[in-house]
Amino acid sequence: MDQETLSPKISTLTVPFHRAAVGAEEAQAVAEAVMSGWLTMGPKTVEFEQRFAGYVGAAHAIAVNSCTAGLHLALEAIGVREGDEVLVPTNTFTATAEVITYLKARPVLVDIDPLTFNMNVEDASRRISGRCKAIIPVHIAGQPCNMDEIAEFSKAHSLQVVEDAAHALPASYRGRSIGSISQVTAFSFYATKTLTTGDGGMITTDDEALAGRFRLMRLHGIGRDAWKRYTSEGSWFYEVLEAGYKYNLTDIQAALGLIQLQKCDAMAQRRREIAECYSREFRQSELLEVPHEMPDRESAWHLYILRLAAGRLTIDRNEFVDRLRSCGVGTSVHFIPLHLHPYYQKTLGCRIGDFPISEEQYSRYFSLPIFPGMSEEEVGFVIDQVLKVARQAAR
Ligand SMILES: *Cc1c(COP(=O)(O)O)cnc(C)c1O
Repeated sequence: MDQETLSPKISTLTVPFHRAAVGAEEAQAVAEAVMSGWLTMGPKTVEFEQRFAGYVGAAHAIAVNSCTAGLHLALEAIGVREGDEVLVPTNTFTATAEVITYLKARPVLVDIDPLTFNMNVEDASRRISGRCKAIIPVHIAGQPCNMDEIAEFSKAHSLQVVEDAAHALPASYRGRSIGSISQVTAFSFYATKTLTTGDGGMITTDDEALAGRFRLMRLHGIGRDAWKRYTSEGSWFYEVLEAGYKYNLTDIQAALGLIQLQKCDAMAQRRREIAECYSREFRQSELLEVPHEMPDRESAWHLYILRLAAGRLTIDRNEFVDRLRSCGVGTSVHFIPLHLHPYYQKTLGCRIGDFPISEEQYSRYFSLPIFPGMSEEEVGFVIDQVLKVARQAAR
């Protein structure tokens, strides 16, 4: 290791993995929501839902307090029950699979496609059983799954499709916006996601009955527009129709979300520019593998997942990201495959070696900073540091 790597002080910059793109406008909108006196779900939430539905081209959008809540409501509404199985990629966040266990159903992990990191449908067809009820495709990094292939597979096996679009706002597959394709799609507004309300989420659907079920179950199973009982035209009377959940968004969050939604296209454009800039530079190094963009899809570029070329470096991914950190570049890894976590090994009986593509990719990938507020200088700095660390570790 030479002087450059050993002296982090040489670099004047540090670039964090993420900085949320929120500022004065969001602060103002939140302040106005607070001052309005209506704090929880109310008119701002309804406005946010309507604008969001319009933005992705869905008939209905139902706001919830997380994508995890949205996925749970989605599986509940489509009828996933005890003993059922649901297909999920092993390369995802635990939320995608944990919601299946909420309903006492069983996640069936599936290996990934090495080009896109998305679910490998061929592997899914090997692992499916007669108890399988649904499939949750996850658009990793924001690049949509092959939705025609998923639709065909689901039809052949009578599966319901719930899309985990936590990374995919805005994204499109063959000209169709994510959120308007399958019967149910769940989005995340977690702090690091492409649109944030601090925490929050949205479910979209064209199905009126499903939308009704989501509205009912997100707020205690109380019949029709439960929140309106506190408005001037509301009544004290309500009926509990089901044992529901407490999954609603608040107007404070919706006010923030409305501002973020206005900026959503511009933020996506900036992330795309950063991704293009990274790929232009990294593509020229035989030590690195840039993310593969499928020609028929538009990614939200929530993540920029870079891979070390197999067998070309003297250090592994862990050492690489450690060195980047000491050079002032924050990174993350998306994801540690689910089957490598103790909980899933214990409950599903999976082991190292069960999902070879996922494991091989995991050993080589990490995510670079990509957020709308990154300056040209910061992008250039990240590129320089990555190329420097790679060069120093070339075989
Ligand atoms: C962030 C994330 C979720 C969960 O989103 P929350 O809004 O935090 O519940 C689900 N799936 C994936 C793939 C995610 O990255």
